[in-house]
Amino acid sequence: MTRAGQLIIVSGPSGAGKSTVLRRLLKDCPLPIDLSVSVTTRAARPGEVDGRDYHFVSKERFQQLRAADAFLECKEVFGRGDWYGTLRENVESGLNQGRWVLLEIDVQGAICVMDQCPGAISFFVHPGSLDELELRLRRRATDSEEAILRRLQVAADEIQAMSRYRYEIINRDVEQSVQEICRLLQQSQNEEGLNARST
Ligand code: 5GP
Repeated sequence: MTRAGQLIIVSGPSGAGKSTVLRRLLKDCPLPIDLSVSVTTRAARPGEVDGRDYHFVSKERFQQLRAADAFLECKEVFGRGDWYGTLRENVESGLNQGRWVLLEIDVQGAICVMDQCPGAISFFVHPGSLDELELRLRRRATDSEEAILRRLQVAADEIQAMSRYRYEIINRDVEQSVQEICRLLQQSQNEEGLNARST
């Protein structure tokens, strides 16, 4: 029998450096990790590629997929009317092939997946404090004042849910965060191996 893979969930406020950490994790961690590409109704940003960053679809197509039960979870994020969903097929086929499937999803979606898949290994990546997040958002200078305030409000709400995650990663240094996540994943793999041998 093939050893089943593991499900990894990562959430955290935008501006915390989460995407950079995950890109590096996929490159540097020796575990067979695949990023699950979500479906979204939001427009592609410059530089984003359909099928790599997201599957970009119309609202009608999204609702068809939803009605067909294609999503493990799906949510309207930020209340802007944009939908995001994790394809059940992505997760199941990866896990069945013994891969580690990584979901980078928001807190609501993460809680929905944790309820369905209690064995998932979850990480909440954040910058340490809301003050630090504000500093980073202002330093990167890509958002309007209104967008910064909205992101901070969303982050404050998301931090309330942090205790639902198995691990908290304070991202002060990308290299260290990547090493820490990789170490925790390898540790969980070793624990799984021990459990399998003792049962
Ligand atoms: P962005 O539009 O900046 O790419 O992502 C906005 C938010 O949507 C981020 O917090 C991201 O983690 C979340 N997100 C991306 N894909 C999914 C998904 O499939 N499900 C859920 N629930 N959230 C997602």
